[in-house]
Order: sequence, then C-alpha cells, then structure tokens
Amino acid sequence: MTPLKIDLHIHTKEDSEDEIPYSARELIDEAVSRGFDALAITNHDTLTFSPELGSYADERNLVLIPGVEACIHGKHVLLLNMPFEDDYYTSFEDVLKQKTSNSLVIAPHPYFPGPTSLNGTLEAMPHLFDAVEYSCFHTPRIDFNRQAVRFAQKHRLPVVGNSDAHVLDQLGLAYSLVEAEKTPDAIIQAIKAGRVRPVSPTLPVDRLVEIFFRVVATKRLSFTSIADFTLVGTAFAKRLLLRRQ
Ligand SMILES: [Zn+2]
Ligand SMILES: [Zn+2]
Repeated sequence: MTPLKIDLHIHTKEDSEDEIPYSARELIDEAVSRGFDALAITNHDTLTFSPELGSYADERNLVLIPGVEACIHGKHVLLLNMPFEDDYYTSFEDVLKQKTSNSLVIAPHPYFPGPTSLNGTLEAMPHLFDAVEYSCFHTPRIDFNRQAVRFAQKHRLPVVGNSDAHVLDQLGLAYSLVEAEKTPDAIIQAIKAGRVRPVSPTLPVDRLVEIFFRVVATKRLSFTSIADFTLVGTAFAKRLLLRRQ
C-alpha cells in the first residue's frame, strides 16, 4: 500500500486570528498539485469545514478532516473530528469529555518557546493526547521538536509531521506518511495505531528565516502572537549566535 501524504495543521484565509493570504479552496488546489491525500484545516478557534468544502476536496480526490486549533487556557491544541456543534472548546476537561474514538487530539509545537505552547500542560495530561506534532521549523542544530519526540517515545504516542502553514510555501515542509485507506476514519485509526511517520526535510537557515518572517507578517497584533514570535525568533537567534562562537 502506498502511504498517504497528509498534513493536519494548516491555516487559511477563514482564520479568525491571523491574516492568511489564501482561502481554503486555494489551499485544497495547491495541496492536490503537491500530491497530498488528506488535510485538516485547523484555524484558530474557527471551524472551516462544510459539506460544500468537503465535496470540493472530494471531487479532487482529497480527504478533508474537520478540525480546529483551539486555544484552551492560552495553550494551542489541535482537535480533529471532534463534535463541533460548538467549535469553541474552553477547557481540557471538555475536550476529554467530548472526544470520541474517532477523534484525534494533537499537541502542536508543544516545546517551542512561547506562551501558547503546551509545555508542562502536555506532561500534566498525556492521556488527553493521541499524537504529538513535529513542526517544520527546525535546522540540523536548532530543533525544538526533539523534546516532543522524546515525550512521544516515553508515552508511546505517534509523532505527526505538520506544516502549521500560514503561507503556501510552508506546505510540504513537514507532513506525515500514513499507511491507511483513504478515508478520514481509516487515517485517524492508522495514526492512533502508530502507522505514521513524520517527514520534514531540513531547510537552509536563510530560507527558514525568510519563511518565518513571512509567517510573522500574517499575525494580527495581539499580545500572545507577538510574545510567541518574539520568543521563537530570539531563541533561534541566540542558538545561531552560540553556534558561531
Ligand atoms: Zn499554534
Ligand atoms: Zn497553527
């Protein structure tokens, strides 16, 4: 079976928080042209999914899994295939109560510097999570994903590669290969069973920095977004300087 190429963390123009330059349909077209089999659009506390959008993807042989990137107590959590009558989850207890055997709760960028990363919250409730994210932002020397991989190994959780795309150039910088039939449920069950591996080619540092600043430009000015990106940028810069000494 040829593994499916998937990305479960992507933002689009419909996002309520960031100013993303492409719409959900434009993302779907681009993903199809880049050989993706399945995507989850995970806008901040905003469900971007409808029967029409599902059909649009389906007609292009792309599986669309409904999802959001929820902000709970200031921390980002990816919620996929959850009951989304009310797409705004405000507590981890609520997530635990509402998630089903066909839901996927993923810890995105858990150890990146910044207030929205889960950090200790992940360690306090590993049972809540079905998978841990390997983000596209890394260099051979600087990789905040390492701690996430160690956490996943310790708790026997799968690691998924996600782009967290805010600009289309990010698409494909991190993705997962999943051994599954091409349906939402089969993909989710295969990930839970560990039939998944992240793929994230290392980028030259200057290219990474260029994409990083284009992502920063999509951020509306809020305290958390400024704090997040200042901290990530400073941490990268510090480690780069240390490397050069
Ligand atoms: Zn996030
Ligand atoms: Zn995100």
